[in-house]
Amino acid sequence: MQKLVIATSNPHKVEEIEAVLGQLGIVCVALRRSDIPEPIEDGATFEENARIKAIAYAQALGVTVLADDSGLEVDALDGRPGVHSARFAGIGASRGERDEANNNKLLALLADVPDAARGARFVCTLCVARPDGTIEAQTRGTFEGRIGHAPRGSNGFGYDPLLVLEDGRTSAELSAQEKNARSHRGDALRKLVACWSGASSPR
Ligand code: IMP
Repeated sequence: MQKLVIATSNPHKVEEIEAVLGQLGIVCVALRRSDIPEPIEDGATFEENARIKAIAYAQALGVTVLADDSGLEVDALDGRPGVHSARFAGIGASRGERDEANNNKLLALLADVPDAARGARFVCTLCVARPDGTIEAQTRGTFEGRIGHAPRGSNGFGYDPLLVLEDGRTSAELSAQEKNARSHRGDALRKLVACWSGASSPR
């Protein structure tokens, strides 16, 4: 049985990653160690931040680690919140309260922006690092839509209730399976699996 440590404290991300990798017989173990200092995510890109997290945890734990760095790019805001998506409206409070504050801030900033200019996308970068600090694989996936005028749907997390897809539903109105089939994270995971087939597998 293959095991892969997922370096994230976000249970939603773990569930989405597990749903795809579990089908391949890879057992995902969420990082639970509070004694490992959190690395500072000061990269300018999602790729840099995913690498920072994957390498830091792989070296600290001595095992192969998968890290996810992801967020929302909004065209009318020149790509913001981008790498600052999680803390767009500030820090503190619970994850749910932060998500709500982030969504309210985004809606306020886009209040006067017409539908045609509300294009946006989720981006997910995944990075697998080995205990010696080398990178085994790195992939990127995107999920295109536009920002709605009010939150809709109760599935998922983060900005899911605001990303309106081509069929008019928001990402938070998709089932977990539908989201994984279409999402940035599902896309990045499938690319990661393709990198591994025929190459080395996680240990
Ligand atoms: P990270 O944990 O630093 O990578 O922050 C990711 C942030 O981007 C999350 O807190 C969400 O606000 C947002 N985000 C990333 N992926 C998703 C998604 O699948 N749906 C909605 N929001 C997402």
